[in-house]
Amino acid sequence: MNETKTNFNWYPGHMTKAKRQMQEDIKLIDLVVELVDARLPQSSRNPDIDELGKNKFRLILMNKNDLADPKATEGWTRYFEEKGYAVVCLDARSKNYMNQIHNVIMDVCKEKIERDRKRGIKNRPVRAMVVGIPNVGKSTFINSFAGKAVAKTGNKPGVTKGKQWIRLNKNVELLDTPGILWPKFEDQTVGLRLALVGSINDDILNIDELAMELIRYLKANYPGALAARYDIEEENEDAQVLLAIAKQRNCIKNGGELDYAKAAILVLDEFRSGKLGRISLEMA
Ligand code: GDP
Repeated sequence: MNETKTNFNWYPGHMTKAKRQMQEDIKLIDLVVELVDARLPQSSRNPDIDELGKNKFRLILMNKNDLADPKATEGWTRYFEEKGYAVVCLDARSKNYMNQIHNVIMDVCKEKIERDRKRGIKNRPVRAMVVGIPNVGKSTFINSFAGKAVAKTGNKPGVTKGKQWIRLNKNVELLDTPGILWPKFEDQTVGLRLALVGSINDDILNIDELAMELIRYLKANYPGALAARYDIEEENEDAQVLLAIAKQRNCIKNGGELDYAKAAILVLDEFRSGKLGRISLEMA
């Protein structure tokens, strides 16, 4: 059963501190590696990063692409590329993408490498920092990219100040702590979409309402997905669809009544884990 984690703190002071930290860290790097959720690339990024990361090389990683609709991902890739970002789509849990990402980093930063070479500077690695909103996959990516065997560099024992860098190879160093960006809740669909994928607390809506929003969205944009998974008539009203799912999946309370909340959690969980298919919540 899904327990959506709230692994971050919404206290404004905490956000201010994180932002200040990022402003400091960004001074040390050449390249911003920004993770977004491929299912909702707009809602899962905070455009403040463009101001924070100006004058830096930029790479957007569309993560969780294993869960996203390939057509939508294609559109978003084009969208970001037209804005001048380098883009790689991936599943950060897999190491298969890491060579490609390394090559793209070299390509994105080729001006810097060339500049260093002309100045006679040899072997100064590209310094990169991973940023993104909570739950987008930053830690997973850093682990896959760096691998377990890579030594951390930067701090001498006993020295607590200064940054920890992960030396990936002779070409790239990564700051070991990612920068946390907060989502921008300017319109309420942003919060709704982040809640649907489980990246913010479910309390934003009650769980039945959240499931009903998902049902409404799927019926309109991915017709047949619910019918195929649950063997139900999805043309009915949204509440009827949830009821039918509860029946089909035996979501029953002790007294014998149907358990809507249980059905709601089930359908949200199955959506979040890709069992309803590869589904995106935003199109470019
Ligand atoms: P962070 O808060 O940005 O550091 O995010 P985490 O690295 O902790 O990842 C959040 C959750 O997303 C974890 O449960 C990861 O296993 C999962 N996750 C990360 N990347 C992917 C991905 O590409 N595909 C899928 N399906 N899950 C992922």
